[in-house]
Amino acid sequence: MTAVPARYAVFGHPVAHSLSPSIHAAFARQLGVAMSYEAIDVAPEAFANALGVFAASGGRGANITLPHKEAAAELCARLGERARIAGAANTLTFDGTDWVGDNTDGAGLVRDLTERQALDLRGRRTLLLGAGGAARGVAPALLDAGIDELYVVNRHTDRADALVDALGQPGRVHSRYWDDLGSHGLFDCVVNATSAGRNDGELALPMGIVGPRTLAVDLSYGDAAIPFLAWARGAGCAQAIDGLGMLVEQAAESFALWHGKRPDTSAVYAELRARAPSLTTAD
Ligand code: NDP
Repeated sequence: MTAVPARYAVFGHPVAHSLSPSIHAAFARQLGVAMSYEAIDVAPEAFANALGVFAASGGRGANITLPHKEAAAELCARLGERARIAGAANTLTFDGTDWVGDNTDGAGLVRDLTERQALDLRGRRTLLLGAGGAARGVAPALLDAGIDELYVVNRHTDRADALVDALGQPGRVHSRYWDDLGSHGLFDCVVNATSAGRNDGELALPMGIVGPRTLAVDLSYGDAAIPFLAWARGAGCAQAIDGLGMLVEQAAESFALWHGKRPDTSAVYAELRARAPSLTTAD
């Protein structure tokens, strides 16, 4: 009798656009892992139930994307350190009884920037735009990677304050008002962790906050990254990088957690980048 491959999935709403099924399928082919991986679209009110049904029908692991990451962390019986600090989980593993949560977004971003793009994050005075699930995932990893001070701005300031409190490094991590952005000097690194580009929202960003050595990173990719990357190039940033590499690296980190083997990401990244040539990184 042929064994049924273990089931994996990405949960989101919407999720049809997700590249995760093809990325994980490519990793599985590369490493000879038998598994299935699907995209499951579920509205927030049905998420908890859908996760339970998935586990009962052979689900062994789940990636979680917008808007469920914070709800996913709450549904887990245990959280790894990265998910606990973030208060958001993007990788769930079923241990046979319960879901265990982790967050690979920050590790994915830092690996893309430091290894693929060969950038040194140490000592960079950094501005983080946004305080949602992705921002909460990447902030601790940026601090661990050795950035200097971190300034967080968010449309709803209470969420920026909550993230700064959760990071627990007063003196190094600060919450600021969006309207005052122009009065905090130059940043060496600006990370856009908002979803403004996905919903046609415009970010009001003064040109004077960046200089010719500034690294600009948008966690979004595809069309959603175009407005911020265009602003960064127009403002004279040294590099303007989208979130495609982070996407591949956070997936590799999830894959390694589930299967105990880390895939080589270069071929998958090159293939996705070739499919979207207009989104090449600047410089
Ligand atoms: P959330 O819904 O959790 O958070 C959205 C964030 O964007 C909030 O800070 C929100 O502010 C802000 N925001 C939304 N619209 C606007 C606007 N018009 N102006 C200013 N701020 C706005 O989403 P996530 O954090 O999960 O995702 C954020 C982005 O990161 C998405 O585009 C997503 O695709 C990308 N991402 C990429 C990954 C990758 O691997 N490359 C991984 C994870 C995410 P407020 O709190 O005030 O509403």
